[in-house]
Amino acid sequence: MRVLVVEDDNDLNRQLVSALSDAGYAVDAAFDGEEGYFLGDTEPYDVVILDIGLPKMDGIRVLEQWRRSERNMPVIILTARDRWSDKVTGMDAGADDYVAKPFHMQELLARVRAQVRRASGHAKSDIECGPLRLDTKTARVTLDGQPIKLTSHEYRLLAYLMHHNERVVSRSELVEHLYEQDFDRDSNTIEVFIGRLRKKIPPDMIKTIRGLGYRLSVDES
Ligand code: CA
Repeated sequence: MRVLVVEDDNDLNRQLVSALSDAGYAVDAAFDGEEGYFLGDTEPYDVVILDIGLPKMDGIRVLEQWRRSERNMPVIILTARDRWSDKVTGMDAGADDYVAKPFHMQELLARVRAQVRRASGHAKSDIECGPLRLDTKTARVTLDGQPIKLTSHEYRLLAYLMHHNERVVSRSELVEHLYEQDFDRDSNTIEVFIGRLRKKIPPDMIKTIRGLGYRLSVDES
């Protein structure tokens, strides 16, 4: 899952990026409204965290312009504590949720997980696919109840496939949602990671759909 953080406070931006990276997300950061608007307009994000008070272009305008051009990714706005009107304006501009500053990182992470889940059609925080279970709260995967060891890239890949299970996911979609903007995006690496995952889970669970991509599924067909 890929997240965009748009926040002009350097310290807070850094804290957000590191907490989200630790939680298993690929994270891009922008420090003003123009840069944030551009990234959100051109890159596919699973969730955006958008500050309201931003230099060059304020958060509300950024959000309105995205929505006007059908950029429909989940957006969580960061508002100042006492500015209740920012929440109203933000939600009306197309925000999906808000967090008032100062906030606990754990609360923000829970809200991010909820948006990722909802966007992929899951209501519960545990996602099951046959013998596999993904606990989105702890970023752990178990197979028949036994934890499986995954590197961070393997985790990102498997978590994405589990959120979108029973659907064919193309290689380019995986590359776009699993790596940061400045990552060297060679789609052959996806194949390598798929190969490694097949050694850790029942290998036929990840099916290669020729010319289209991969599908994680439990059925035998
Ligand atoms: Ca700000």
